Amino acid sequence: MDTNRLAELLFGDITETPQQIEERYPPRQLPEGARVTRMAPSPTGFMHLGNLFGAIVDERLAHQSGGVFYLRIEDTDLKRAVEGGVEMIIDVFQRFGLDFDEGATVEGDNGNYGPYRQRERADIYKVFAKKLVQDGRAYPCFCTEEDLEEMRRQQEAQKENFGYYGRWAVHRDAALEEIEQNLREGKPYVLRLRSEGDGQRRFQLKDAVKGKLDMPWNDQDVVLLKSDGIPTYHFAHVVDDHLMRTTHVVRGEEWLATLPIHVELFKALGWKAPNYVHTAQLMKMDGSSKRKLSKRKDPELALDFYHKEGYPVECLMEYLMTLLNSNYEEWRMQNPDKDYKEFAFTTNKMSTSGALFDLDKLQDVSKNTMSRMPAAQVYELALDWSKQYDAELHALLSGDRDYAVSILNIGRGGKKPRKDFAVLGDVKGYLDFFYDELFQPVYEYPENVSKEDCIEILTRYQDIYNEDDDQNDWFNKITELGVSLGYAAKPKEYKNNPDQYKGHVGDISMVLRVAVSGRQNSPDMYEVMKIIGKERVLSRLRDAAARIEGANE
Ligand code: GLU
Repeated sequence: MDTNRLAELLFGDITETPQQIEERYPPRQLPEGARVTRMAPSPTGFMHLGNLFGAIVDERLAHQSGGVFYLRIEDTDLKRAVEGGVEMIIDVFQRFGLDFDEGATVEGDNGNYGPYRQRERADIYKVFAKKLVQDGRAYPCFCTEEDLEEMRRQQEAQKENFGYYGRWAVHRDAALEEIEQNLREGKPYVLRLRSEGDGQRRFQLKDAVKGKLDMPWNDQDVVLLKSDGIPTYHFAHVVDDHLMRTTHVVRGEEWLATLPIHVELFKALGWKAPNYVHTAQLMKMDGSSKRKLSKRKDPELALDFYHKEGYPVECLMEYLMTLLNSNYEEWRMQNPDKDYKEFAFTTNKMSTSGALFDLDKLQDVSKNTMSRMPAAQVYELALDWSKQYDAELHALLSGDRDYAVSILNIGRGGKKPRKDFAVLGDVKGYLDFFYDELFQPVYEYPENVSKEDCIEILTRYQDIYNEDDDQNDWFNKITELGVSLGYAAKPKEYKNNPDQYKGHVGDISMVLRVAVSGRQNSPDMYEVMKIIGKERVLSRLRDAAARIEGANE
């Protein structure tokens, strides 16, 4: 077979040579050990946790080593692409603070190794497809859908492996005249690899996560170019990752099964394959068994879920880091204030079997992470979130920034900060009583305090509350008030002699807490009273007392 002639027949319009293209994509000038990684999503409009999981690995590997992290849009499958899909991808990664050094941007391409959208690279793939044809490593296949279905039926009947290979590869050795005839008749065709692999033999390869792999050689004549001339993922990623000088291909382990195809393609093109980093699937517990997170069943797979629920980016990233590297949590305990980027990320500490995603654990991590943030940061996050998801909260937060920040600052900064929020949606329920607009008191007083005592406490406290008191004086006044009404100054005294007292000082504080905050659980009352201000404290005490009196009448 005259393969040069075949190549001209198929790709007569392609005049560029592989050498010319290689010159356009020279090796990158980077320091020794620098890694070049890429995110290569398809613009399907659905970004999921797995995308983010992989992107963190890409970003860390590149930036920890002084390398390059770039974005390539894999838009060869038009059926799956949606309008605005690219913008959405870019927006999501920006939101998660994963900054690309080069690649597709909303304005176009940024970098010297583009185009970064595969649809714009159609001619580049053809140059290498033409070379494969010239080398006798690719050929056109004119099988129709029906032909392939029939083949499958026969393979099933004969208990043979499925696929287009060996003796089943009917167009593999077609004569040039036959091909010419088919082309003249305008028959559609795909371009297939002429595999040289022997499926009985095996090869070894090292994966950065999975370790040493032992796999059968590919023997399938896989499709390289579809009938519209657009490449398959297999072919496109090989060409792109070679030309764009990717050193580490990070992708989900669902690609492991087709890795032998990719290895053969790199070989056929005379290129060195990159290092592969196949990340484990994200799993979850379903009852007592583990299963893959599913788009249909698990809303938490979609990245949008976290945005809507109000998980700050920092919290989700923090949690994903704990899933990615088994030693991360320990590091975090020793380095509570450091940015996660200071952690020495390594593929060696990644789970090989499946990362167990657990929403409860995420909530814990999120609570811890938010408890360590300065109040102003929580304020900004809540302001931003509420803008989209809670107009009422947004109006209150933006109405008086200092007031909101001082509320959020209660119990923050010490060794054991309060852990009130797992999501930004929790903020409203925490601070609602600080705002008259949201104040909906539930007056539930301690049972051992009589109505008369409650009224007495609420009324007398109005006279003694002084907003300039320090915490000691403030507390002493409450104690004295309690003692004068027959309550023990200390819980212990009451416990030792329960018959001598009506209760203890904690009951007095509780009455005040319920009146002022409208609930039994609230942050430190001394702080609360200071923040909401004397006027509001007094009016709430009055209202609460009046409510009891009203009920008594
Ligand atoms: N476009 C592929 C996907 O979205 C990319 C896989 C890879 O990173 O190579 O799954």
